[in-house]
Amino acid sequence: MSGNKSLRLLVLPGDGIGPEVMQQALHVVAWAGEHAAVDFEIREGVVGGAAVDLYGTPILDATIDAARQADAVLFGSVGGPKWEKLDFSLRPEIAILRLRKELSLFANLRPVTVFEPLIDSSTIKPEIIRNLDLVIVRECMGGLYFGEPRGIETMPDGQTRGFNTETYATSEIERVARVAFDLARRRSRKVCSVEKANVTESGLVWRQVITKLHEREFSDVELTHMYADNCAMQLVRRPKQFDVIVTGNIFGDILSDLASMLTGSLGMLPSATIGTSNDGRFSPALYEPIHGSAPDIAGKGIANPMAQILSVAMMLRLSLNLEKEAEMVEQACISALSKGARTADLAHDGEATLTTTQMGDAVLAELHRLIS
Ligand code: NAD
Repeated sequence: MSGNKSLRLLVLPGDGIGPEVMQQALHVVAWAGEHAAVDFEIREGVVGGAAVDLYGTPILDATIDAARQADAVLFGSVGGPKWEKLDFSLRPEIAILRLRKELSLFANLRPVTVFEPLIDSSTIKPEIIRNLDLVIVRECMGGLYFGEPRGIETMPDGQTRGFNTETYATSEIERVARVAFDLARRRSRKVCSVEKANVTESGLVWRQVITKLHEREFSDVELTHMYADNCAMQLVRRPKQFDVIVTGNIFGDILSDLASMLTGSLGMLPSATIGTSNDGRFSPALYEPIHGSAPDIAGKGIANPMAQILSVAMMLRLSLNLEKEAEMVEQACISALSKGARTADLAHDGEATLTTTQMGDAVLAELHRLIS
């Protein structure tokens, strides 16, 4: 017995590049444990396509139970061409959807931060994105992806029809809006709520509910409203006008991928999926990079592990109360980048590139330098 505080982590590397980038992230977890004098009790599980192959299901009930008992879940990525033709119920992505549902994780937080050393990696002009720091809060347990009725049917004239339902009720809107307002209070006190209130009833209800909640509980925060199509345009035109964006499931999905490209690479962006906080701490919660399993580069050892490592930083901050270590991990990533560390996704033509392992080592070297 070390006498150290003990924290339980469930690690789910998944498919494709998931296991490759997770390996580097776990070195950072080990560093944090040593630095903060915490014993991490790490359990590992198989999810996604790998679990379909092994167990015939994308996630076992036992894995969901292990997630419930964990202080945090660190997730890699799932999916790939091998499993694309399976029935929806067997798709690797069901692993994440079930984890979110069963742990009541309804808010997905996606910070979009431009790191100065990567300012030239973006396709957007430097002056538009320099010092950009916004967060998209996406509702992720409701809306179009879960609404009923849904299905595929044959119409009387023989055509096939696919249908889904966009639906949001007061409590679903309020709980995700509270996350956004609370977050804004710790930042620049600005929330932009995004929907299509001009053409959808669910968008109209979304706007009305958020407006009332704002008046009742959060009038110290500035609230604006924007239609989703305008928001897509504004994110490219003048992204620094935003601080916290709160939106529903499908708009959040699309807008956060769009926003990720302001930073240059999908390989840089982490995310957290959280539920209701417990004394300011979110536990359990799920931490994962926003990228997928990148089948085109899987197995080549060239994936960028930064998004997975930055997901560790979010986990240290939001679930494990290790703010100092979270900041150090972020600082180490920036330092490694400013010294020229680049995986292939970040490098310009002719620039030397690091492998996944070398990039992980570069971050670790900076972490050790920060404490020496
Ligand atoms: P993707 O994010 O996997 O890849 C998009 C592009 O970005 C690819 O060219 C890829 O090589 C590159 N890329 C992504 N991450 C990178 C990294 N860390 N370093 C360097 N380059 C990186 O998206 P996709 O190709 O649309 O999807 C592939 C599979 O991943 C699909 O099965 C999809 O369903 C799944 N997916 C899973 C998640 C998840 O697990 N949360 C999220 C998105 C997509």
